[in-house]
Amino acid sequence: MLKMPNEGILKEISFLDALQEGVWVADKEGYIVLANRSFARILGYDSPERLKGKVWYELFPPNESTLLKNSSIYEPMGKFYNTNIVTIDNRTVPVVLKLTYQTIDGVNWCIGSLLESSFAWQRNGFPEWLGRQVLENLVDGICLIENEHMVYVNRRLEEMTGYSSHQLRRMSLEEIVTHPDQKPIAEFLRELRHLPAHQEVMLQTRSGQEIECELRLVPIEDGKRRMFLGFFRDISGLKRTERIQTEFIAMVSHDLRTPLATIKEAFSLLSEAAGGQLDKKQRRYLDIAQEGVDRLNRMIENLLEVSWMESGKLTLRFREVEIARLLDAAIDSFSLIVGKKNLKIERHFPEKTPVVLGDYDRLLRAVSNLLDNAIKYSPEGGIIQVVVEILNSNSPILSEKGVPPNNSYLKVTITDQGPGIPSEFLERIFGKFERVDPYGPGIGLGLAIVRSIIELHRGKVWASSTLGEGASFSLILPIKEEGRNNYE
Ligand code: ADP
Repeated sequence: MLKMPNEGILKEISFLDALQEGVWVADKEGYIVLANRSFARILGYDSPERLKGKVWYELFPPNESTLLKNSSIYEPMGKFYNTNIVTIDNRTVPVVLKLTYQTIDGVNWCIGSLLESSFAWQRNGFPEWLGRQVLENLVDGICLIENEHMVYVNRRLEEMTGYSSHQLRRMSLEEIVTHPDQKPIAEFLRELRHLPAHQEVMLQTRSGQEIECELRLVPIEDGKRRMFLGFFRDISGLKRTERIQTEFIAMVSHDLRTPLATIKEAFSLLSEAAGGQLDKKQRRYLDIAQEGVDRLNRMIENLLEVSWMESGKLTLRFREVEIARLLDAAIDSFSLIVGKKNLKIERHFPEKTPVVLGDYDRLLRAVSNLLDNAIKYSPEGGIIQVVVEILNSNSPILSEKGVPPNNSYLKVTITDQGPGIPSEFLERIFGKFERVDPYGPGIGLGLAIVRSIIELHRGKVWASSTLGEGASFSLILPIKEEGRNNYE
């Protein structure tokens, strides 16, 4: 004979039916004496009455049932479980279950309430246990750093390093991370200004191997404690692909350079020798061929330049460079195509252009890449302006571009009347292989090279544009001041 709990408490059963949670009350043997409608709905019964007399823990899968049956912990606030319940049609539904044991009038009762997990998460937010699972199983190795020591590490970091969490927590970060500049980690953490910070580092494994990783550091404040969350991402695969790509580019462009130089030489000899004897049509064919070779040559030189830049083999030979002379040489090298497109290149140079310290060939390449683009994107008959200005050391442009203001700078601006560049691309186009139109002409390396060359000269380069009216590329370089060597 089933006993009912205190009438006073449960008389108003209708309020239980209004709850979203499934609720039941069971006696000390586990027999359900009372269930609400939501509990019946979750389990697929048409009426809560049909649940009466069933043993509550047998409604859970066998392995969980035993655990729950023995869980009679008399916690006043009850206890939560993330478990599953089996419906009448044998479906397993994940639920968040709360069990409370109470003694009323000397009789023990088990009160259960549960909610399907999907609802529970919506209501209570992301559950803590799931957050922990995510943390442990992420592709990134994660650690919590305090005073250069790891106070927490996730499972992935254990896998990556080969050390157990216990071992790692006794080690300092210094023991597993080497900074590419050999800078001690403590110093590196102290110097971090822009957070979150991203750094490429080497992760030292227990077996003595090194893994190329990107380390992302996020500061966390907890009262007076200053801590960092460190995320290690294995980028060795990516780096390997990049190296193969660079080596391939270097090899191909190097091998193409020699035959191309021969063709170029042959064309110029032919042009010199046969100059006067060619008719108009033949001359045009020869010009087209020469122009194509020049273009191919520039592309190959750019490819080679990129592979040098990437392998760190790019060395600069500094000397005094007269920018006006360099710009003249660059402009002259495009005379064929400029004539063909009927373009006009206007030079606005000051009377006396100052000297910069730089690598003439590299600066020529940078300026040529900018001119090449301006010419390529100019409409037939368009005007290209090449403007040289001197910026003294208090010019606002210098602080705006973040260059040291203790020097005057030379500014070169190349403006065309082409289609212009959408604002969201003005910065991106300086990245490798970035192009506004992915199917347009070019391979997207020219501007990456320009930026790299200009920054190696302690300068800056940027683009501005009014869409539909043209694009403007500006570069600034420090001027060599009398009696002073800027690169000392
Ligand atoms: P490439 O010209 O070989 O594609 P660049 O790095 O020189 O590579 O240029 C990258 C992209 O920037 C170009 O593909 C183009 O979309 C855009 N761009 C560069 N210069 C200009 C310009 N003067 N006018 C319009 N778009 C330009």
